[in-house]
Amino acid sequence: MSKYKCLIFDVDNTILQYDASAAKALQTLLLNHGIEYTHKIEGIFRQICYDLWKSFDLNLLDNPVIRENYHELFKEYNYKRFEVFLNVIETFNLNDRNAYQLSQEYIDIFNNTHIFEEHAIDVLKKCSKTHLIAAATNGLANIQYKRLNPVKQYITHFFISEEMGYVKPMKEFYDYMLCKMRLSSKQCLFIGDLYTTDIVGAINADMDAIWYKTKESESAKWLEASLDYNIAVPVIDSLNNIYQYL
Ligand SMILES: [Mg+2]
Repeated sequence: MSKYKCLIFDVDNTILQYDASAAKALQTLLLNHGIEYTHKIEGIFRQICYDLWKSFDLNLLDNPVIRENYHELFKEYNYKRFEVFLNVIETFNLNDRNAYQLSQEYIDIFNNTHIFEEHAIDVLKKCSKTHLIAAATNGLANIQYKRLNPVKQYITHFFISEEMGYVKPMKEFYDYMLCKMRLSSKQCLFIGDLYTTDIVGAINADMDAIWYKTKESESAKWLEASLDYNIAVPVIDSLNNIYQYL
């Protein structure tokens, strides 16, 4: 019998592939406007997103001011990246587009672009037969619910930071989940790809964690990397390897 009642999964780059979904959504958006999609354009957009993410300080989740304003900043970032993108690609005839409309259009496509991490669907399906399954994400509710729609039948609890008022790695985020599920920290196992949010938060909440760390993942560079890893936290490079820890 498993020592855990609930498995709590991070969403981006743990259940869903963020970068692949973002690239596919951009491709669809541009094709909808008759613009040829190239890796160069993808690279330009990705760099704009990365630079803005940093300039909005969305990577500084240990800063109380950023924590407090995270979701408003996130919404502004979602729009602003298209304003910059339109300026950069002015030769591609999108000049007449309004950045806000384009941003909304992109988000609608992104919400319905479901590219999963390898084995994610199978793992959720199998584990949902033996455990409660929770999804825990720093993000905007109307986006994350839609993105998780194809696997919602396996997920008993959705914890989305915008609805909670707390972001990972705040201890309040983890305490909120435990309170809602009426579980103790030791009855839960957290699985996530970002050490500085997912794993640090779990450790501080006295919750066991598994660090899902794939070679391809570049997500760590979007947040300040930790220099201080707890080596007692198991590391897996495939979601299929979680069963040995349950
Ligand atoms: Mg993640």
